[in-house]
This record gives sequence, structure tokens and C-alpha cells, in this order.
Amino acid sequence: MNIRFWGTRGSIAVPGKDTTVFGGNTTCLEIVLSGGTRVIVDAGTGIRPLGEHLLSLGESVQVYLLVTHIHWDHVLGFPFFAPVYSSSSRLYIDGFPTCMKGLRVTFDTRMGDGFFPVKFEDLRADIHYLERLKYGPLKIEDTTIDTIALQHPQGGFGFRFREAGKTMVFITDNELRDDAWAGRKPSDYAEFCMGADILIHDAQYTPDERRKRAGWGHSDYVAALELAEQAKVGSFWFTHHDPSRKDKEISATLLAYREIAKDKNLHFPIEAAFEGAELIL
Ligand SMILES: [Zn+2]
Ligand SMILES: [Zn+2]
Repeated sequence: MNIRFWGTRGSIAVPGKDTTVFGGNTTCLEIVLSGGTRVIVDAGTGIRPLGEHLLSLGESVQVYLLVTHIHWDHVLGFPFFAPVYSSSSRLYIDGFPTCMKGLRVTFDTRMGDGFFPVKFEDLRADIHYLERLKYGPLKIEDTTIDTIALQHPQGGFGFRFREAGKTMVFITDNELRDDAWAGRKPSDYAEFCMGADILIHDAQYTPDERRKRAGWGHSDYVAALELAEQAKVGSFWFTHHDPSRKDKEISATLLAYREIAKDKNLHFPIEAAFEGAELIL
């Protein structure tokens, strides 16, 4: 599978001179499976340039859109995903059980007093809600996608993609903590991520920030690295960068990660997710 980041920011989009390296768009990940099918995870503001890219390919757009949860930063880009306005587009939507509600609410209501001048019903794309993942794994060609519950206010799903002996796990908006209120402990996530070739995980905070924002549903970089270590992953990417974090601060965090990894004698690559980064698995 080929993976590309279109949005790596948490909470709110932050354009500007301090976010040109790692990007200012909120969460959106594109995964092209080995069979050629395209899957998008989350419709943060990064889905807008992705939509333009897909239309520029000159083919009718057929995609799966999987939504981790419906906080604004993960659905806000959907009305600006240009393929939804084309009758030749086909979207298969799945994810956390409230995903359709979340995508709909970004549009106008039936009364014309909503959030956007267009109504969801007026979209021209052929949109199907699969409603599969809440019952178990979703199979797309030779790829199996399954989920784990997130430790996050109002809940959510992390996704694991497996095909031909390769595994990629994407878990954002997840607070790794021993006193898990949603019933998932760090050891559960380690089991879910075990042996993944690529782990992409939320690390919005520093340990100090995480202590002050306990219960906000995000991890610090020390806990996220511990997960990567315990799960014996092949490579680790941290994402959902805090909106206040400038490029140079994310670079400093990356160095901090690598210092810890060196002290622990860990040898897998560690990277900060940035817009445009492509991972080939
Ligand atoms: Zn988020
Ligand atoms: Zn969230």
C-alpha cells in the first residue's frame, strides 16, 4: 500500500509561516491499496487539496472514506472535497458509527438555516454508507481493515490495514494512559499494533502538557514512543500536531524522540508526519 499525508494537524487548521514544513491542514490520510483501490481516512481540511488532486487525474473518483470520529477537525473539510459535486464520483463511507451524522452536519439543514449554502441531499456524487466496521472487519479486495476503540471524548476508532503480510496502523486522537476510562489500556493498543510495519499515532502533547490536559484524549510523545517500542513496530510516525506547535518546535520534539530512542537502544525510524510525506509499504 502507498500512504500519503494530506493533513497532520490536530484541533484546528493553522496556516501561516510557522507551519510550512509539517503543514497546517487537519487530519487526512490517503492510502492506495495494492489492488489500486483508494481509501481516505478522515475528512479534515487536508481532504480539500486531496480532492483537487484526484480530479486532476482526469478519472472518475471512486474512494472509500473512513472516519475515525466526528470531532470538527476530522470532518470539516468534507464540504470542500470537490468530487462530492460530480455525478461521476462514488464514495463508500464507513468508520465510527456516528460518521454519517458528522459528515452531514457540516452541510446546511433542510430548513436552510445551517452551516453551509449546500445541502447534503444536493450532493451529486453517489454516496453509500457501508455500516460495516461497527460489526467487524471491512474487506476491500485483499486488504483487511479492523478497528480499536479510542481513548477519546465521545469515542472513535483507530484503524489497522493488513494486506499480503504487511500492516499499517493509524491511531489518532488517543490518550495512552493506564487508568483508561474507555476500557483500553496501553497494553491493549500494544497488542493491536504488534509487529506493525508502520505505526502512525497521535502525540499532540509534551508530557507536561498531557498532565495538564488529562482527559482531552491525546497522547504525549513519551507514551507514544513506548507504544511503538512495546509493539515492536517497523517504523513510527507521530501526528495530530498541536495547533500551537511551530515547525521548529516539532523538529525539536523529533530530536527529543530520537534521543530517548538512542538511550533505549531502539533502532526503528521515527518521523514527524508532514503534509506530502509518502510511505510505501
Ligand atoms: Zn483531532
Ligand atoms: Zn478528536
